[in-house]
Amino acid sequence: MTEKITGDFAAANTEPENPCRSCGACCAAFCVDFHPVELAGGVYAWASGVPVNMTVPVTAAMVRMRGTDDFPPRCVALAGEVGQSVSCRIYASRPSPCREFYPAHAACDRARWRHGMLPCNRMPASP
Ligand code: SF4
Ligand code: SF4
Repeated sequence: MTEKITGDFAAANTEPENPCRSCGACCAAFCVDFHPVELAGGVYAWASGVPVNMTVPVTAAMVRMRGTDDFPPRCVALAGEVGQSVSCRIYASRPSPCREFYPAHAACDRARWRHGMLPCNRMPASP
């Protein structure tokens, strides 16, 4: 079963030096579960909310980003190639777990390891 964490799946952060822009490992490593109130039309939706068709229902109080419990996992909203160049198609509307995750989080290191990448704090310095 795919590991599940709560947590900022920050693959599409637009800051130029953000390591997430060339990573995306966490968007292709963990289940991403959240409450349906963050779906499009929900009372606690971020921006326009997560499109319902990008999720699958889990319980009455939980939905999951589609693809994150596939084998191998990969969020349906993730664009690009993990470890090269990525972005989140719904960045402004991404759910809470994706907003609470950050580079060098212990789970960030695990996600990167699964995709053959060093932890962010061990990456070689830029020339
Ligand atoms: S695994 Fe870490 S560095 Fe990679 S996208 Fe996620 S938060 Fe960013
Ligand atoms: S919604 Fe965006 S940030 Fe969250 S897991 Fe999917 S691709 Fe990553």
